[in-house]
This record gives sequence, structure tokens and C-alpha cells, in this order.
Amino acid sequence: MATRQAASELISIDPANGAEIARVRITSAQELDAVVARAWNAFRHSGWKSLLPHQRALVLHAIADGLAAEKQALARLQMQDNGKPWGECRSMVESAIGTFRYYAGVCETLQTDVTPVRGDYVSFTVLEPFGVVAAITPWNSPIMNDATKVAPALAAGNAVILKPSEDAPLLAPELARIAHAAGLPEHLLQVVQGRGADVGAALVSHHGVRMISFTGGTDSGKAIAHAAAERLVPAALELGGKSPHIVFADAHREHAVAAVVAGIFGSAGQSCVAGSRLFIEECVYAEVLAQVVAQARRLRVAPPDAEGVEMGPLASLRHRERVIRFVARARAEGAQVLCGGAVPAGAEFTAGAYYLPTVIDGLHPRAATCQEEAFGPVLVAFAFRDEADLIDQANGTAFGLACGIWTENFKKAWRIGRALEAGSVWINTYKQSVASTPFGGVKSSGIGREKGIDGLKLYTQVKSMYFGLHEQPLGISR
Ligand code: NAD
Repeated sequence: MATRQAASELISIDPANGAEIARVRITSAQELDAVVARAWNAFRHSGWKSLLPHQRALVLHAIADGLAAEKQALARLQMQDNGKPWGECRSMVESAIGTFRYYAGVCETLQTDVTPVRGDYVSFTVLEPFGVVAAITPWNSPIMNDATKVAPALAAGNAVILKPSEDAPLLAPELARIAHAAGLPEHLLQVVQGRGADVGAALVSHHGVRMISFTGGTDSGKAIAHAAAERLVPAALELGGKSPHIVFADAHREHAVAAVVAGIFGSAGQSCVAGSRLFIEECVYAEVLAQVVAQARRLRVAPPDAEGVEMGPLASLRHRERVIRFVARARAEGAQVLCGGAVPAGAEFTAGAYYLPTVIDGLHPRAATCQEEAFGPVLVAFAFRDEADLIDQANGTAFGLACGIWTENFKKAWRIGRALEAGSVWINTYKQSVASTPFGGVKSSGIGREKGIDGLKLYTQVKSMYFGLHEQPLGISR
């Protein structure tokens, strides 16, 4: 979805056809103060943080039930909000439901430590919420990213202020409505709306926010890290990527080629883990690249609700302009565009933000467009000689979010997987992600891990408790 902005509202546009679908009021500075005050009041007085874990888990399950009851409507809204194909939108709502259920389970079963005896006392840890957490999400997978932050933050006992992207503002208020209807005490999940540079920046700088959880671009992440450093509050950052997808000569060819194509062109490349750099072993380079290009050409680009659609529009015309400029820069750097590199022709595409699947060859791996995230359907391909050459090239960007390795040799997969600088390594698979497995980046792709048990601990602070059992009064150590 795209938004144009009036001074006080966001105007939501369906990127498939340019139709206006909703208007959303931007949160003012005074309203933000009131939201933070209400969040603290809810945190301190609603009793949520003192509920026994299984009681909080019941509410999280009820939120999952509420999302499930409205699955179709939420998926449709998400489709209009950012133009992703219908199947992907349904999967995203299902993922959000699964996330609430998973954190209901973790909340109930999370263990803390009784630490080893080192004196006449018993010591152990408890996990405590921060209080008010700011959760800031991007436009590419709204309901899924919102749930990945909100479910564990609530499970840990916090109050959450959620700021969705100005380019996808419609799902977050639905999540808050469903959560409160499911029994979440009032004001424990509030939504603020507006642009990152003003409302987002005001939120992360607000003295009442004790922890920040951010997903978005690397530059925004750096600005947020600065704001967090000013107030010394923790910031978890899930940022961008330029992930390498690697095909060795001994790979299962059919599976590898299909995964490379799905890994970049799924979600029209608007995925943080898009496999946007393809590395093919030199001896099979021409062959594999030709197969990838042939499959990319066959992809069905169509409106998100069309039968058999594989690639919908980009999220906005403004974003498509960025992708067009990106490919123009690649051409200026000497790229050979093997397919795509253009807006599709046809009446059904004129009002929407469509762009063709694009495969690029002939660039140096250090070229700017091989280093920067396009966040669109653009794949750059390279040949590698041997493992050392591959590791050097694949690790040669500022990012480190994910990577894919295709080989039938498991020892080689292990070596390469260990050597690559990435938060997630997919071997003979790609873009798999589950609530129970930690996710996050290294280098400029982020700090901290979401999902899994780490994803709940992210929203807690460890407190160490000592119970003294001394027979004698304490003295000063000598
Ligand atoms: P963005 O950084 O422009 O915006 C993300 C969110 O941050 C929005 O809500 C925005 O309003 C807000 N924001 C921006 N600047 C801010 C500031 N200074 N202070 C506070 N809030 C601010 O990103 P985007 O264009 O919405 O999303 C695309 C980016 O997100 C890509 O780089 C993609 O790789 C990344 N992403 C990462 C992950 C991950 O898990 N690592 C997942 C999805 C998307």
C-alpha cells in the first residue's frame, strides 16, 4: 500500500490499483504523552504483570482465537495495505496467530535459574518486564511483524506502544482492538500513527519508553540506536539485508533453482531475507543462471488476488520509483539486465505499482548496487571459483541477515554455513521461519534476536535475588 500524506492524516492507497482505501489520523505530540501515561498506568495498575504465567497465556490464546476468527478480513486488509498476493497475506495472519500461541506456551513454561551455591545464601534469578515498550514495524509484513513484537512483549508483562509504518497503518489498530476484546486489560496495547521522522522519533526519544524494539531499514535503525543511547535504554534492531544465495555444482539443481527464484521474487523482493545476491559455482554458472532467468521470466505477475499470482505489485508507486532508480544505477555501473528491468506492459498494470522480476549479471561484487538493499525484485548474480573466493565475496557487504546454501555435501554445507556472517543459514532450503527459532542479524543487519525463547527474554530484565542463611553477622571482608 502507498500513502500520501496530508498534514494530519495518512491516506492509504491500494498499490494494486491506486484506489484510496482509508484515512488514518496522525498522533500528535500531546496525544503521544497521553498514550505513554496511559501505558504506564495500565502497566502499574491493571494487574497484568502480576498475573500468573498461565493466566497471561489464556489471554494470549484468546488473542490468537480472535485473530483466527477474523483471518479472512485481516488478510484482505493486509492485501490492500501493501499489495502482497492473497496467499502470502493469509500466511502472514496465520503466522501472527501461531506467534501468539507460541508465546502463550513459552510464557507458561519459561524457566529461570537457581544459581550455583557460593556461600551462605541461596541465589536465583527472576525475569521482570521493562514497563512500557515501544514496538516499531515496517510496511512489508505488518500483522506478522507486529505479532512478533507484541506477543512476547505482552507475555513478559509489559505495556506496548505499537507504531506501524506510515506506509501500512491499517493492521495495527485491528490487532489492538482484537487483543482488548480478547481480555487484554485496557491500554496495554496502544497504537500511534505517523511518519518515522516525527512520530517514530518522538516515541523512541520519549522519557516514558523503557525499551525499543525496531524492525526496518538500517539507516532508521542507526538513528534509533542513537536515540536509545542518549537515554541509555535497550534497543533491539532487526534491519536490512543483502543475503547471499549459493548454488554449488553438486546441488539438487531443480530444487536449488526454484528456491533461488522464490527466495528473491516472493513478496516481490520486499523481504528482509530476500536472497538478492546469487553465487553460482563457476563450472555451472552459465547453465544455472540461464535456468534462473527462464523461471523468472515465467513468473506470473498479476494483481494480488488474481488466480495463480506469483508476484503482485510493489507496496507503493513511491517504492517502485526507488526500484526503477536502483536498476538504472546498476545499468550505469555496467550491469547486463538478463530479464525484467522494466514495468510490465498491459492495461491491468497501468494504475498499480508493478515491476518485472529482474536478473542482473556482469557487475563487480563491490559495485554499489551489489552492496545496497533494493528491497524489490532484483537479483544480482556472480560466479565463484572455490570456497575461499565464495566466502570472501559472500561476506563482502555490510549486512549479515541470512544466507542459503545448496549442496549435497553436508560437510561442505557445515563449513560454509559456519564461515558466513549471517544470523540465519538455510541449507537446502530457503526463507523458512518459525516462531520457535531465533531470528536476527549480525553486522549492519541488527542487534538482538526475536522469536524463540530469546524473543521473550528480549522483553525482560534479569533480577538476581539472594536469600541469606548466615549463622554469623556479616563483617567487612579483609
Ligand atoms: P523504515 O526504516 O523506513 O521504517 C520502519 C519503521 O520505522 C516505520 O514504522 C517508520 O515509520 C519507522 N521509523 C523510520 N525512521 C524512524 C526514526 N528515526 N525513529 C523512529 N521510527 C522510525 O523501513 P521500511 O521501509 O518500512 O521497511 C523496509 C526495511 O525494513 C528494509 O530495509 C527491510 O530489510 C527491513 N526489514 C527488516 C526485517 C528484519 O526482521 N530484519 C523485517 C522486515 C523488514
